[in-house]
Amino acid sequence: MELYELNLRDAAEGIKSKKFSSLELFDACLNRINKLEPDIKALITLTESEGREAAKAADAKIARGDELGVLEGVPVILKDNLCTRGIKTTAGSKILGEWRPPYDATVWKLLKEAGAVLMGKANLDEFAMGGSCQNSGYWPTKNPHDLTRVPGGSSGGSAASVAAAYVPMALGSDTGGSIRQPAAYCGIYGFKPTYGMVSRYGLISYGSSLDQIGPMARNVSDLQLAMSILAQHDVMDSSSYREKNYDFTPNNNLKLNLKNKKVALVKEFKDFTLEEPIEQAINKTKKVLEDAGAEIVEVSLPVIARYAVSCYYALAMSEAHTNLERYDGLRYGYTVKDSKGIKEMFTDVRTQGFGLEVKRRIIAGTCLTEPVRCDEYYVAATKVRTLIAQEFARAFNETDFILQPASPTLAPKLGANNADKMKEYEADLYTLPVNLAGLPGLSFFTGYDVDSKLPVGLQLIGARWSDADLLNAGLVLEEALGSPDIAKL
Ligand code: GLN
Repeated sequence: MELYELNLRDAAEGIKSKKFSSLELFDACLNRINKLEPDIKALITLTESEGREAAKAADAKIARGDELGVLEGVPVILKDNLCTRGIKTTAGSKILGEWRPPYDATVWKLLKEAGAVLMGKANLDEFAMGGSCQNSGYWPTKNPHDLTRVPGGSSGGSAASVAAAYVPMALGSDTGGSIRQPAAYCGIYGFKPTYGMVSRYGLISYGSSLDQIGPMARNVSDLQLAMSILAQHDVMDSSSYREKNYDFTPNNNLKLNLKNKKVALVKEFKDFTLEEPIEQAINKTKKVLEDAGAEIVEVSLPVIARYAVSCYYALAMSEAHTNLERYDGLRYGYTVKDSKGIKEMFTDVRTQGFGLEVKRRIIAGTCLTEPVRCDEYYVAATKVRTLIAQEFARAFNETDFILQPASPTLAPKLGANNADKMKEYEADLYTLPVNLAGLPGLSFFTGYDVDSKLPVGLQLIGARWSDADLLNAGLVLEEALGSPDIAKL
């Protein structure tokens, strides 16, 4: 086995027990990246020198016998909408130019304290708006399982990095599915925690009431390890909330994790078409769940089935237009020097700095929140959101988990889903309700499609704050369905 193939726990263990050094692991991952990156293009920034210094520092700590962090010396990748002090952070947009944040996102601070080493910053749809990684202001990232296909998005660079074994774990952000859908397209595991579980401080905002950061890895136990580091209360984020200390230690007594639990399918979703391999994966997973002692039930989510997509896009675009007001070229990032006046400068900066999808959403968000229509659209959407949260709450009185697709399709061809915007938005039906209600969602691998050889992923959802139980249920699914292979390139 090559060092770059190691999962997160084994990589950390190997360094601690001196089977190999942090620098050896770093160089193995770096060679892998140098070999594959010209094809995949998952990274906006490779932090080679910072990473190598940190790896050397970890090795020095080990040599001195210092106390070590849980991830001491292990390389990780961050989605490039997470601030890293002194290191270029773009949010996938030209408008941030060569901006280097003066502070670290809390998640990166926590990972660093745990000893992690930064390998790079991953590509994304501009400001996390999109589901294909083709809306990046830089370049489209490719799916490591099939270079003619998208890796999904918006955390497509993070997903591709983990699937291609650049690093064992990467962070993504999920506003309406951006961790779970690319994880499914790339054949890895992705976890979107309960809203408030992980601090958003230093995450470049898209839709602040929906955004949540989470880990992406090649097995469930690594997600648990990452969550044990990331789930901390943070005074810097007013929405960070913890009722108690959550324990993310894997419950390896797998017989217990799903025994006598109820897992529901959504009645209304039966009427919607799914690609055949997704349909088959649901049937296979139902069987696995039953064998594990769970009971398959049905819940009805009529409001979600009918209104969640419009509700989400109304709110996400409204919040985005407010959040993106700050990019005016005066304070940081891209600027234009030869504009006629100050107003013209704002126009020039925003015209040149933002991409098409971002502009579309800023304009839509401006219209939706204008005083004359605000009640009819934005305020109405906030009310529908409450109904959606209530509908989920009722459903979780009847079931422990909900099983559903992460996407109605396997990874689409590059270019394909640029044609029809509405179709692309509607494809988020299975992921975005989770964000509207602030729930946790796990995207898991179920196997490969025999014809296309593409990975097939699904999603398991839990009630708010059931994150630890949800991940333990994921351990059972992984054991029965098998773990993914590293993408063969
Ligand atoms: N595809 C969805 C959107 O474009 C979700 C994106 C996300 O989760 N960041 O808004």
